[in-house]
Formats: sequence, C-alpha cells, structure tokens
Amino acid sequence: VRPLAVALVHHPVLDKEGAIVTSTLTNLDVHDLSRSARTYGCTDFFVVHPVASQRELATRIVEHWTTGSSAKRIPDRKDALSIVRAVSTLADAMAALGDGASLWVTSAREIGTNTTWTDARRALEGPGGPVLLVFGTSWGLAPEVTAKADAVLSPILGHGPWNHLSVRAACAISLDRLRSPG
Ligand code: SAM
Repeated sequence: VRPLAVALVHHPVLDKEGAIVTSTLTNLDVHDLSRSARTYGCTDFFVVHPVASQRELATRIVEHWTTGSSAKRIPDRKDALSIVRAVSTLADAMAALGDGASLWVTSAREIGTNTTWTDARRALEGPGGPVLLVFGTSWGLAPEVTAKADAVLSPILGHGPWNHLSVRAACAISLDRLRSPG
C-alpha cells in the first residue's frame, strides 16, 4: 500500500474569470481536511500557501489545538491536526514526500481525466512511491498545476451536471473512494 498525502492549494488557483489568484486560508478547511486525511490514514495534510503570514496562521491553528487551550478541551482533535504541514509551494510538499512521489489532481470540471477512481484505488493498493492528492480553492487548480499531474482523476458526479462540491466534501468523498476499507 502506497503512502497517501493530501494537499490544499491556495496558489496558483483560478478566479471566476480564469485569472491566476491566491486564495485566503480558511480555518474550517484546515480542520475539516485534516480530520478526513487522518481518518483515511494519510501521512500528511499539506496546506500550500505562498504568503508567510498565512502559513503562520495555519501553524497557529495547529498549535492552538495540539498544545493550547483547545487541546485540553477536545484532546482527540490534536491527532488530526498533527499531520498538518504548512508549506510555500506544491513543490515543497512533493519534496517532503521524497523521491518517487506522484502528483494526483482533482477538479469539478473535465480537464483531461486520465485515471478512473477504480484504477486510482488499485494503484494505491499496489507497489510504488507516495501519492499526493491535490485539491484546489477559489475556482480550482491552475492549469500549470494540473498540467504537471501524473494522474487527473475524473470529476465526482452525482445525479445531473451540477457538481461544484465544497473542497471539504470533495476531499472526504475522494478519500473514501480511494481508501474506504473493503
Ligand atoms: N472555497 C470553495 C469551497 O470550498 O467551496 C473552494 C471550491 S474549490 C474549486 C473546490 C475544490 O474541490 C476543487 O478545486 C477540486 O479540488 C475539488 N472539487 C470540487 N468539486 C469537485 C468534484 N465534483 N469532483 C472532484 N473534485 C472536486
């Protein structure tokens, strides 16, 4: 079984007009994705942000819940937040995973799917290096990110064409498809 990590990218991401922007860190994303990542046995949850003060905010959230007052109030949350890593770029996250890491990206829009969820799940259960499963913010990952991907996973669809899930829902559904037991 290959190690699996999650990344939430705040730059480069797209805005409504398709321009490259930098989104603001959302406290809820840090908590929610770290709990999903921990639940499905991910080794790391990389919060990718180029702005130092935003990385410090992520680190402060983690510290507050791992050593601060909230850690005493809700001790088990620190297990989830202990896998959070604030990094400047996606390249830093890939470097942290070491050689042989693969980049898998997700999108609500069809951007060139080359991997089904079934194939992705099977690949994870086989031999190979770590996998970084990447989610975007704002209006999605910039083409410079998805162009570098080793795998583009198919958009999660429900019933009908509308499928713009929150990144929190998309991460949970993705992890369950890849790593639910049985
Ligand atoms: N602030 C917004 C929020 O959380 O609702 C961010 C939206 S952002 C575009 C949502 C991210 O979640 C996408 O970049 C993608 O990684 C993932 N995502 C959303 N809907 C998806 C879908 N139907 N299939 C696959 N991934 C999806």
